[in-house]
Amino acid sequence: MRYLSTRDTNKRVTASQAIAKGLSEDGGLFVPEILTNLSANAIESLLPMSYQQRAVYIMGGYLGDFTAAEITSYAERAYSAPGFDDSAIAPVHTLDEDIHFLELWHGPTCAFKDMALQMLPHLLTATLEKTGEKKSACILVATSGDTGKAALEGFRDVDRTKILVFYPDSGVSDIQKLQMTTQLGSNVGVCAVRGNFDDTQTGVKQIFSDREIIRELEGEGYMLSSANSINWGRLLPQIVYYVSAYCDLVNQKKIKLEDKINVCVPTGNFGNILAAYYAKNMGLPIDKLICASNENDVLTDFIKTGAYDKNRDFYTTISPSMDILVSSNLERLLFDLSDKDSHIINSYMRSLSDNGSYAVSADLHAKISSTFWAGCCSDEKTKKVIEATFKKYGYLIDTHTAVAFDVLNHYRHDTGDMTPAVVVSTANPYKFCDSVLSAIGTEYKEKGLGLIEKLAEETGTTPPKPLVDLKGRRERFDDVISKEEMALALKAFLGSK
Ligand SMILES: *Cc1c(COP(=O)(O)O)cnc(C)c1O
Repeated sequence: MRYLSTRDTNKRVTASQAIAKGLSEDGGLFVPEILTNLSANAIESLLPMSYQQRAVYIMGGYLGDFTAAEITSYAERAYSAPGFDDSAIAPVHTLDEDIHFLELWHGPTCAFKDMALQMLPHLLTATLEKTGEKKSACILVATSGDTGKAALEGFRDVDRTKILVFYPDSGVSDIQKLQMTTQLGSNVGVCAVRGNFDDTQTGVKQIFSDREIIRELEGEGYMLSSANSINWGRLLPQIVYYVSAYCDLVNQKKIKLEDKINVCVPTGNFGNILAAYYAKNMGLPIDKLICASNENDVLTDFIKTGAYDKNRDFYTTISPSMDILVSSNLERLLFDLSDKDSHIINSYMRSLSDNGSYAVSADLHAKISSTFWAGCCSDEKTKKVIEATFKKYGYLIDTHTAVAFDVLNHYRHDTGDMTPAVVVSTANPYKFCDSVLSAIGTEYKEKGLGLIEKLAEETGTTPPKPLVDLKGRRERFDDVISKEEMALALKAFLGSK
């Protein structure tokens, strides 16, 4: 299987090259030349398999330069106890007859980013070998909270890698911050940057495009690499859980083989929902893909009208991992729906960088509308959904998942389509204790880890072990720097130890 750049289809690279590079030099994203086919027979053969075996089957089709034995060993190491606290890895929780929550937060950092970032380090270090790369990888991450911790945990003490995470000092939850500042491992660094997520992200992008720094690092034996969701090595493991959830629903007799389901995804950078789109096009019987946003509703408008416009106010919400105005992975969808026409993609993306906006053709918009539906949900409504779901079902969900549940209800009300639905649950509610406590109407004075005990006490639910274990951990990283100091911080980090 070869990979193309969305901005230059004459270029063809192997899977390991696509994963090692992350982003193509022309600014495009790597996509597989074709999707592998998942027939009803193939799905049937996956029914008795474990999550790890399903992962080997799905991922194997896309990793031509990896052996089955290699992928099997990665899957067994990435998806196992004690990192995951549920042997199903990505269990499906049925709320009502035809509403199911796909729980993607049973990994070591309690958010769905673990599903990919437990796998990516295995793929990336193997690609260093396969591409004959002599340098070590230095992973640079700008995070709004969940990615940073999941990447730190995935890469900690992994040979031939170092990882430095920058997070905005204002903009992550108390728990998210503690998760990062107490990170263990000898190859990790964490640094707060004054400002918001955009400032942090801009700083990281500047380092990536600074030839002088890159040359200097190369001299010291490092190549810069990204754990961001534009990397194919992050997208591929995410296709697996859609297939796995479908198999589980068949096994549990909630649906019959070949029955259609709808999928509703709380969306930020469009990576998670894009993986569902690929699963559907491979042959998984998914009908509608429902894209859920918070008050940052640029995707809702785009899917409804065909016009993408990031020139709008940016809101800081209680579902911070979805506070985003430019969803990078959308480029891969547009490429696919425009029959792999890189000229069209180049013109849209040029318009996006010049004007902050573009509008797709009527034909392309019609294709989007036939598969996708979109809606958005305010903070106030998000809290109401958390409260109502807990009261009615005793099931506690986090803010991101609540946005998706609300948008699903909205979809069902508007369209009357009651196809069995999978709501993608992306974080453990304990990661966002403060918002969840206020949603269920609890007054609290606690801060930091005290919030975990308070939420457990109020709801009678059990907090996840990785968060409880933060108690008593030493804070190792307390640097706060300005955006201008990020490159210096990187050099100091690589120079140390
Ligand atoms: C990252 C994240 C999202 C958004 O996922 P995308 O793939 O960026 O669309 C949603 N919820 C949570 C909890 C996340 O961490």
